[in-house]
Amino acid sequence: MEPTDPSDETDEEPADGRIETQAIHAGQSPDAETGAIMPPIYATSTYEQDAPGEDRGYEYSRTGNPTRTALEDNLAALEGGDYGRAFASGMASINTVLNLLSAGDHVVAGDDVYGGTHRLFREVFEQYDLSFSFVDTTDLDAVEAAIRPETELLWVETPTNPLLRINDIEALSAIAHDHDALCAVDNTFATPYLQRPLEHGADIVSHSLTKYLGGHSDVVGGALVTDDADLDEQLGFYQNSVGATPDPFACFLVLRGTKTLPVRMDRHCANAETIAEKLDAHPAVDRVHYPGLDDHPGHELAAEQMDGFGGMVSVELDATLEETREVVSSTEVFTLAESLGGVESLLEQPATMTHASIPPEERRAAGLTDGLIRLSVGTEHVDDLWADLEAAIEDAVEY
Ligand SMILES: *Cc1c(COP(=O)(O)O)cnc(C)c1O
Repeated sequence: MEPTDPSDETDEEPADGRIETQAIHAGQSPDAETGAIMPPIYATSTYEQDAPGEDRGYEYSRTGNPTRTALEDNLAALEGGDYGRAFASGMASINTVLNLLSAGDHVVAGDDVYGGTHRLFREVFEQYDLSFSFVDTTDLDAVEAAIRPETELLWVETPTNPLLRINDIEALSAIAHDHDALCAVDNTFATPYLQRPLEHGADIVSHSLTKYLGGHSDVVGGALVTDDADLDEQLGFYQNSVGATPDPFACFLVLRGTKTLPVRMDRHCANAETIAEKLDAHPAVDRVHYPGLDDHPGHELAAEQMDGFGGMVSVELDATLEETREVVSSTEVFTLAESLGGVESLLEQPATMTHASIPPEERRAAGLTDGLIRLSVGTEHVDDLWADLEAAIEDAVEY
């Protein structure tokens, strides 16, 4: 299970450099006036005009702000897209994609999409007469069967949460396009360092910047990237009209994060791989969900579609709900918390935390067992991480 080095995959050198270089430089050049290396935090709501309508590219900070532009250009470059848009949260970016639709339209989405996405679709947009079908997006026939004449959007996540299923972006985009629908991919778990959905045919990439792109658990943000000028213009219209835009300080924090994305992801991937292998060999473990393991059902596809297998690992302990609760409550290096993607390792019990709102029978049927733990493997020393997990399992689980 050798994740490939993204730099090896590059057969031609992009004009602005490889992703490690773009992460640091794209969208950011030293300030023309002062030479400041980092784009300033432009804390301004409005901009002087030389004559009515004669502005210097900016009029009002909901519509545009130079710190935000630096971030938007940086993210677009990382995703290999032409246009980036930043938002106040990942949910605000997803909301903006849904703004493209009209009453009567239908959306097909994965049945294990992020909980907040499910809630936004069902509890906010259904009241505006949009309808949604949730299907297993690893089953292409099921996706095809769910499409209706009024289907305008296919919403895909890969890897999914918390079972890390891998969806085929190229095949799903092709199905969407056959039916004149858009394919949007939430790329939060993989990040552009490991997976660039536009290269596989997706129309829009969505991010929660709160996770790996920010990377330090200190900022909430979202983004959309596309290659299509018309689509970008529409997204920009809703970005400005709805107004869920990030302030310049949040943009600065995310830009600080994206510079180290490649080095952080290398460590996240290496640590996650080691933890997944050690868990796999542990007597108290029923099953490990990690796309880097040879027996993961999406392993081959992940090896093709991704440049590494990511920092998220889910493990099913051969343990009761109570024992599992005890494990997640007693680690010392892993912190018990929802969210993911920061440098610090986090863990959580889906059955009692992120997925607690699903009724127990339905939850177990969906593969979210009582013994399931989701790990966001951080960048600490892997031996400390393993010692912590091993001790917590030994203390809490009878095996
Ligand atoms: C966290 C997350 C979101 C929502 O992002 P926020 O920044 O919390 O609004 C959407 N999709 C995925 C996959 C996420 O992990």
